[in-house]
Formats: sequence, C-alpha cells, structure tokens
Amino acid sequence: MALFEKAPAKVNLSLDVLGRRKDGYHDVEMIMATIDLADRIELTSIEEDEVEVSLWSRYVPNDERNLAYKAAKLFKKAYGISKGVHIKIEKNIPVSAGLGGGSTNAAAVLRGLNKLWDVKVPLVELASLGMEIDADVPFCVFGSTALARGRGEIIKKLPSPPSCWVILAKPDIGVSTKSILQRVNSDQISHPNTEEIINALDTKNFSNICKYIGNSLEEVTMSIYPEVKRIKEKMANAGADGVLMSGSGPTVYGLVQHHNKAQRIYNGMKGFCHDVHIVRILG
Ligand code: ATP
Repeated sequence: MALFEKAPAKVNLSLDVLGRRKDGYHDVEMIMATIDLADRIELTSIEEDEVEVSLWSRYVPNDERNLAYKAAKLFKKAYGISKGVHIKIEKNIPVSAGLGGGSTNAAAVLRGLNKLWDVKVPLVELASLGMEIDADVPFCVFGSTALARGRGEIIKKLPSPPSCWVILAKPDIGVSTKSILQRVNSDQISHPNTEEIINALDTKNFSNICKYIGNSLEEVTMSIYPEVKRIKEKMANAGADGVLMSGSGPTVYGLVQHHNKAQRIYNGMKGFCHDVHIVRILG
C-alpha cells in the first residue's frame, strides 16, 4: 500500500543570525511561511529492513546523503520498526535554492511514516526528531507560518500573512547554506526587525509586512553572487511591494496582493531568469 505526502517549500519572511554558539552552530530567529510549491512524496512499505529512495534529479543523491533517506532511517530506529520503505520523490522545488527542499522532504517522510506504520507520535515529537537531520525540519513538520528560534527547534505558530501572491525568481546557481553561514559575522550584518514583522502579521498589515521583511544573509550571498542583487532590483523595479532573498538564497521573492500585478511581474522576470513561479502562501 502506498501513501502520498505533500512536501511544500517555504520562504523566509525574516532570517536573523543572532550569533555563533560555543558548539559552532548559530542562534537564529526566522519567520517562515509555507508556500504552495511542493514536492510529492510516495511511501511504500516493504518487508525487507531497508530504505530505498528513487527520484529523478541531477542535483540530489538517492543514497544515505538524501535527507528523506535520513528521516526514514531515524524514524525506524526511534520507534523500533523492522519493516522497510521505498520513498519516491517527485521534485518540483528548485534545489539549493533557499526554499527548504531537502528539509521539507525529510519532514514529509516523518509525517508520512507516522501514518503509514500507524505509530501515532505527536507532531511535536516528530519535530524534535527532525532536528537531528537539519535545523529547518522542525518548522517543516508543522508548516504554515511560524517563528523558529534557537538553532531552529523552538517553534511558535504565527498568523499567516493576508492573502497575497508570491513571485519566486531563482538565478541559475545553487547556494550552499553552510558556506554562507561560515562567512557570517553577526556584529557586521544587518538584523531584521522581527518584532515589527510579528506585529504586522498579528494586525494583517500587508504594507508593513512588505516594509519589514528582512534577511541577515542577503548581503553575504549578494557579495559572492551579484546576480542575486540584480534580480532583487529587477523585482522591485517591476513593482513588487516587498522583495527579499529567501534562506541563504539564491531565490528572491516578491509579494503583491493582486493576481494581475503578479502576472505582470512574472512575465517581466521570465525575460530575466528562467526559473520563475507564481505561488500563494498556505494558511
Ligand atoms: P535550506 O534553505 O534549508 O538551506 P535549500 O533549499 O537551500 O535548503 P536544498 O534544496 O534542501 O537547499 O538542498 C541543499 C542540499 O541538500 C543539496 O546539496 C542537495 O543535494 C541536498 N539534499 C539532500 N536530500 C535532498 C532532498 N531530498 N531534496 C533536496 N535536496 C537534498
């Protein structure tokens, strides 16, 4: 029997790096929102005690380096499951894009196996298990809009932004989050005003959301990849009300309230880079 689980991408409404901890990890504060661009995960239980991954992507391995594989191994070990699973991933989320593709696959596998094998673990437990895979997995287990703190494991649900359209534009490069974080000095980067974004979400104030969205990693990524800066300028000139790089990049997104405007910006960005999408934020 096969079970299907959606694995939606996220955008960062904020990403603040507060400092480096003694253990080498960074303390962060991030507001993330799930969008309706999703991978599709198919899970089939098999009798052999194995985890198999199949997917068609030049950029993603199908072995133990795959975060979906790691999630299945971890789940089996944590709950003493001797059955195995075949994981088929249909990739729609651009890879190494700042949209959390690997983390959302891992989260979907944790949620899916919980149902497939009828283990009935609460999401909060799956989220803390997910932290062993990647810092964005706990958020992805819950989805919607939330504030993530600590290394990413302290999750507080927030109201979703008012109905709007998101135009995603990704230049033809992949960015490694690790290499960007290695260059961050929290005393030298700008810090978004997370409180103001939370206020804007609480009051459903779209123009303040657009005004205050911010990402500490933007300048670092842009200093290495100037095309990210050019895409951000292009998106702002095209009329997006709020424009920001997501995660460690390179995807830049623009926020608008009306579909006609989103379509115009999409058409303009299409002439500039070929990986462009119009999506919505999932409530
Ligand atoms: P984040 O914003 O969380 O840093 P990202 O969107 O920038 O993530 P991913 O798409 O998750 O980046 O890919 C980052 C790396 O993870 C790539 O090197 C990719 O090969 C690897 N990876 C492992 N498993 C997966 C998976 N299931 N899907 C996508 N990438 C994966």
